[in-house]
Amino acid sequence: MANLLVLGTQWGDEGKGKIVDLLTPAFDVVARYQGGHNAGHTVYVSGKKIVLHLIPSGILRPGTLCVIGNGLVISPAAFFKETSDLEAQGVDVDPSRIAVSRSAHLIMPWHPLVERVSEELRGEKKIGTTCRGIGPAYEDKAARLGIRAGDLADLRVLREKIEENVAAKGRVFATFGLPPIDAESVYREYAGWGEKFGPYLQDVSELLHERMKRGDKVLFEGAQGALLDLDHGTYPFVTSSSSTAGGASTGLGVGPKAIHGVLGITKAYTTRVGSGPFPTELHDERGRTIAARGDEFGATTGRPRRCGWFDAVAVRYACRVNGVDRIALTKPDVLGGIGDISVCTGYRYKGAVLKSFPPETWALEKVVPEYRTFAGWPDSLHGAADPESLPRAFADYVRALEDLVETRVAVISTGVERAETVLIESELSGLLDLDRIRRGRGA
Ligand code: GDP
Repeated sequence: MANLLVLGTQWGDEGKGKIVDLLTPAFDVVARYQGGHNAGHTVYVSGKKIVLHLIPSGILRPGTLCVIGNGLVISPAAFFKETSDLEAQGVDVDPSRIAVSRSAHLIMPWHPLVERVSEELRGEKKIGTTCRGIGPAYEDKAARLGIRAGDLADLRVLREKIEENVAAKGRVFATFGLPPIDAESVYREYAGWGEKFGPYLQDVSELLHERMKRGDKVLFEGAQGALLDLDHGTYPFVTSSSSTAGGASTGLGVGPKAIHGVLGITKAYTTRVGSGPFPTELHDERGRTIAARGDEFGATTGRPRRCGWFDAVAVRYACRVNGVDRIALTKPDVLGGIGDISVCTGYRYKGAVLKSFPPETWALEKVVPEYRTFAGWPDSLHGAADPESLPRAFADYVRALEDLVETRVAVISTGVERAETVLIESELSGLLDLDRIRRGRGA
């Protein structure tokens, strides 16, 4: 297989950053297709912690081209903060390494303000967004009011679009009690960004097409979990974009046949940030133990993540919606030594057991999980890299998960570092070039 799509199968924070970084040596291009700087991937390279928000995790491997697709919404300020933070850590962020789609929408100064007020107005029903303006930027895209990165290239067009937006939003701002927007100062700010941004902006669809034509391999990077997808997630407690596999096609301008395989990143337990239903959530000491051991605090916001048992109903659903070929199981080391481990195998609802994930979020709020309990495994799983060294109880757990989610596990991550990974070579061989991964693993 040539091109691989990598995405999270839960509510995000599955460890996509680590796995994308690990697999990047088998690819020439890493292309991200949705979201904004609300995403946060923490990657460790030889003990050094690097946090990525907008830029694909492939940037940590020299020589890889990183692509930001039209499916993203971009805050120029966040983009340049990230490039300068990366540069300070010795990462090459030259425009020859990063291509940003000219069709990507821009986050404008009014977007975070609107989001904060609309979250406040929702009161108890708030979504729990990061208030970085991402949702409102996608709203403007759908309302056909959005300003795109390519608009920065023509100052007359940019001015016109800013004025059009300011006129359209004046009344909304007054209703919300927000101060009026000064179109001229927004124009000056974004004209400045335009000059800096120019060298990064490209026709990404054409660039990918040319690269694939010459035989380059592309890793498509999903930045948020599948259960946060606007259509297939737990609506309305979702993000505003298509984080599922189909989003790669629309979010980068590539045909679906360019995606040859799908790897689902799946955490050995479940976490969720913000509001929304979470059937297997643990409200007791065990939840707090998992959170502490797994360091479950948001990379972008520092918010504590809600923690619970593995939900096989949810992951099986995510595997179906995304056509997941293989799973990369992350963070099972976090559960080592905590005793018995439960897995949700079905949902009880109105006297029956649902075997599939209900599309109605209000029903998901009422389901009672049915659990199967497994003997736990020792702490020694942490850092394991050899399939033969896996504790017996853990191997049994993996077999059971595979049956429950109807998908085989190809990678087991046992720690934050690249080398702390078990590669199940027989399961990976059809998906990517293993020799290139082996060479990059120790790097
Ligand atoms: P992402 O957004 O899906 O990339 O996930 P985050 O970066 O938000 O959260 C994953 C966290 O878990 C990061 O701090 C990773 O360094 C860490 N991590 C990834 N894989 C493993 C693993 O197998 N074991 C442990 N203990 N930590 C891991």
